[in-house]
Amino acid sequence: MRGRVFSGARPTGRQHIGNYMGAIQNYVKLQDEYECIYCIVDIHALTTMEDLSNMQPNIREMMLDWLAAGLDPQKSIMFVQSHVPQVMELHTLLSMITPLGWLLRVPTFKEKARMQPQNVNYGLVGYPVLMTADIILYKATVVPVGEDQLPHLELSREIVRRFNSLIAPVFPEPQGKLTEAPMMVGLDGVSKMSKSLNNHIELAATPEETRKRIMAAFTDPQRKKRSDPGRPEVCNIDTLHRLYGCVKLGEIETECRAAKIGCVECKKLLADEVNTALEPFRTRRAEIAQRKGYLEEIFADGAQRAGVIARETIREVKEKMHLL
Ligand code: SF4
Repeated sequence: MRGRVFSGARPTGRQHIGNYMGAIQNYVKLQDEYECIYCIVDIHALTTMEDLSNMQPNIREMMLDWLAAGLDPQKSIMFVQSHVPQVMELHTLLSMITPLGWLLRVPTFKEKARMQPQNVNYGLVGYPVLMTADIILYKATVVPVGEDQLPHLELSREIVRRFNSLIAPVFPEPQGKLTEAPMMVGLDGVSKMSKSLNNHIELAATPEETRKRIMAAFTDPQRKKRSDPGRPEVCNIDTLHRLYGCVKLGEIETECRAAKIGCVECKKLLADEVNTALEPFRTRRAEIAQRKGYLEEIFADGAQRAGVIARETIREVKEKMHLL
């Protein structure tokens, strides 16, 4: 039997090329190896989201990107977290067996509490419990994670072990599947690519927007003039050339070091590469966006299929907890 993968992502709206390289392309690959469940975690977003009026547009834009990138609702279950409300029921039940000390020690909780001192809400503390509920409600056995997320998964595994020993052995311990996701540096050349830092390129951006953003990107800070030799090894434009399979990479690097190519020309080449690579995605996305009612169908079908598994798990959990 194939293992079952679960992965959730917050509804951050249109995805950028860093999201694609870091997660989405891996989601697409996993579909052929596992039974996959991909969820847009809207309830998680409530812990930090400021403007809730963006929620629905963000969910739709994100699902459009997933579909255009190759996530296939025939192969995978794709749905919105709150459309299967049993996850909240399981969250409450798990919260009864999870020691508060475990949650207060989580570094991301401390960090979020520092970042939003005006809104240290109860949901923020219980975040790992809800994350655990997401995974085990579907009895997922595999969770794709980056190295930095391994401690979160370990906490979920501890909650599972505690439930299984205190109540009854209901849940498999989910295993992390380390994904080799290159950390994509943003156009500022310093930080991880992120929407909040506005150093990103959206997958669905127009070719003109893409070009404009690349032309404004930071390069080797020591190269002040065209006649200064550059250092491709510290320049993010060079990294992006590499990621997009630039056929003239060696040539560009040599010319950069000898100040024979200017950054403007080098960036123009990159913009062409990125636009060419994204063109099929953008065409597919536009086609999907035109299909009236298609997203609603996917959301409903995903919730229905996920709901079948969720209801059975909740029945089992309630039975073991003597609630039935
Ligand atoms: S020529 Fe290209 S690789 Fe060299 S510093 Fe300029 S942008 Fe970077």
